[in-house]
Amino acid sequence: QAKSQHRGSSQYFSSAMGTDARERFKLLKGLRAGFEENRLFVVYQPQVRLSDAKAIGAEALLRWRTEEGNFVPPDQFIPLAEKSGLIISIGEFVLRTSCHQLKRMLDLGHEDFRMCVNVSLAQFRHPGFMEVLTSALRDTGVNGRNLELEITESMAMEDTELVMHILADIKHCGVSVAIDDFGTGFSSLSHLRQLDVDRLKIDRAFVREAQTSSAGSTIAQMVINLGRGLNLTVIAEGIETEEQRQQLLELGCHEGQGYLFARPMQADQLERWMEQPAALG
Ligand code: C2E
Ligand code: MG
Ligand code: MG
Ligand code: MG
Repeated sequence: QAKSQHRGSSQYFSSAMGTDARERFKLLKGLRAGFEENRLFVVYQPQVRLSDAKAIGAEALLRWRTEEGNFVPPDQFIPLAEKSGLIISIGEFVLRTSCHQLKRMLDLGHEDFRMCVNVSLAQFRHPGFMEVLTSALRDTGVNGRNLELEITESMAMEDTELVMHILADIKHCGVSVAIDDFGTGFSSLSHLRQLDVDRLKIDRAFVREAQTSSAGSTIAQMVINLGRGLNLTVIAEGIETEEQRQQLLELGCHEGQGYLFARPMQADQLERWMEQPAALG
């Protein structure tokens, strides 16, 4: 195999990745070592009020820099971490790191700052999850109301029963929950109604398509209407242009995140970014 002759960076991004068992095994080995050797870290993407780009919080996103200095996208290594069980300790690391940074933001005077953390179904299934969550809050001294967990729509639909029960415990801590990538799964509306969530997150595919296709804008409008009907707030991800910001506002979506406002950034950068006046309005 030609690929194995080059132990460089490109192997991580080859299209075969994720299909070849040996490649996956190598990647997982690298991930495990990377985690142990502190090459995993968390970046933060600001979330803003769309009307004036005022920051309201941030989403925590995991990054892995390999020994060679390359970045492996989370879409490639998170599924591996999930299948191997490594996501349990990595997820705990992300949660603790994000709560620590949340405390920083609150201490800096950003009172209503909301930190959003992605969680996997495997974490929900793990019996220690609530203990991890409550101890992360306790150890950092942050209030649960400043924390939000993001679960994907497909995860919510795959095991609605389990998710329902965990959500009840999460709510008990004052922590809120958003359904991520909304519109990409096949939500049963009756299941959705059963889930005590606070927010729907419009997937960036629909934000992108909202301008170019009427199907895209119809889906965006539907998610916004659904949110309104179920009394949930709606946030849009992947906003890259001023036109998209305008259109989402017109459709009735008031919060968002995307490269138009800010890219994911390191903690110290986030702290500086928060000090700047809003770029719009
Ligand atoms: P997600 O939760 O839907 O996160 C949003 C993704 O959109 C992020 O990709 C972010 O960098 C990207 N993004 C934000 N604004 C824009 C934009 O304007 N344009 C474009 N093209 N992209 C934008 P990222 O960081 O590569 O993460 C990909 C996915 O990996 C996440 O999707 C999430 O499902 C997963 N992930 C990341 N960190 C974690 C984690 O700590 N735990 C778990 N379980 N999953 C994570
Ligand atoms: Mg997310
Ligand atoms: Mg998303
Ligand atoms: Mg997404």
